[in-house]
Amino acid sequence: MYLPQEIIRKKRDNIVITADEINFFIQGIAKNTVSEGQIAAFAMAIYFNDMTMDERVALTCAMRDSGMVIDWSHMEFDGPIVDKHSTGGVGDVTSLMLGAMVAACGGYIPMISGRGLGHTGGTLDKLESIPGYNITPTNDVFGQVTKEAGFAIIGQTGDLAPADKRVYATRDVTATVDNISLITASILSKKLAAGLGSLVMDVKVGSGAFMPTYEASEELANSIVAVANGAGTRTTALLTDMNQVLASTAGNALEVREAVQFLTGEYRNPRLFEVTMALCAEMLLISGLAQDLDQARTKLQAVLDNGQAAERFGKMVAGLGGPADFMENYDNYLDRAEIVKPVFADPAQLAGNTAFASAMDTRGLGMAVVGMGGGRRIASDTIDYAVGLSDMIRLGDEVYADTPLAMVHARTEAQWEEAAKAVRESITVSEQKPEATPEVYRRVRAEDV
Ligand code: URA
Repeated sequence: MYLPQEIIRKKRDNIVITADEINFFIQGIAKNTVSEGQIAAFAMAIYFNDMTMDERVALTCAMRDSGMVIDWSHMEFDGPIVDKHSTGGVGDVTSLMLGAMVAACGGYIPMISGRGLGHTGGTLDKLESIPGYNITPTNDVFGQVTKEAGFAIIGQTGDLAPADKRVYATRDVTATVDNISLITASILSKKLAAGLGSLVMDVKVGSGAFMPTYEASEELANSIVAVANGAGTRTTALLTDMNQVLASTAGNALEVREAVQFLTGEYRNPRLFEVTMALCAEMLLISGLAQDLDQARTKLQAVLDNGQAAERFGKMVAGLGGPADFMENYDNYLDRAEIVKPVFADPAQLAGNTAFASAMDTRGLGMAVVGMGGGRRIASDTIDYAVGLSDMIRLGDEVYADTPLAMVHARTEAQWEEAAKAVRESITVSEQKPEATPEVYRRVRAEDV
């Protein structure tokens, strides 16, 4: 028998706590016998004294097991169950194509996704821009669509990792979100409750990333890989670039349109292509669907070229209540904003010489979309799916007086003006051509940590 205050005291005094003590505390959170004040004190003690990898594994497993852990065995999938999770970005629409591509290569991806957080877009919000798409199907429908399409992207249910819900709500109001041990356990407890065989983590780096520096992103990637593997789920992480908007669009319906065009081959932004391919290839490798990354890429290119990936996406959308002809007629279904106009650079920045897009405050661009109603400032806000940015300039592109930095899609002139100002302020134009940044910085495997 333990006492919550004794466990908090140990952590406060920087004494390693045992897996049994962590289990007791987390079960108390799920059963409401541990108070909000005790969660806050526990989180603050972890914030200051941190956790060993063993403590992090125990915390993650306890939070994962605080609710239902999905068991897919009755579905008799004839391939591996594998998923991807990203720490979030702007124009990061990879999940939509990735699910379809890996499914077409033989994987099963039961993806439980989240809504937008702060300046970053949320996969669920993007999918909800498709009329009829149901993000909260029954468990049976979730399983059936995953079986038939090979993947299904839905929202978190209250049954998965309920302890995280209470812990996160308390961290959010007690300045304890930014701790790597707590972030690791929070992300992984939800993901691992989906009953995965393996996982690929996309940890973003740069001006639009959740973590503030490259070193912090790397530390998070190392922690996630060590803890997930320690918890029994094969996991690799990629550190990928978020120093610019990843796709050519940012905004819900605009990104879905881009995802469909990517799958059908109508248009593929090269940076988005590279990050999506890298993540998919890693998923095929870790789940045993390919022997090496070259073979994985060959398989993935084939399912893009032969239309199988696009077909999988259409099947998932229809299975979850969306239009049966979405892939053919997406433009008829996705909402559009009334005002679509280009934003140009401030003429003073051009000064008659060759100028380049040399830096992006990607967070600022994400907030420009939120400002138009494309994201939430508070959880109860409703989303305007049509607004956003398209035709995003890329770092290193030449900028002339008539080169759009982006097209702003707005509902009103006032909204357009405000977003256009934010776009101008978020994109640095200078005579200095920036050094090209890689799409993928590095890969972190179990054997690296
Ligand atoms: N996302 C999560 O789900 N949890 C965190 O703690 C941070 C980001």
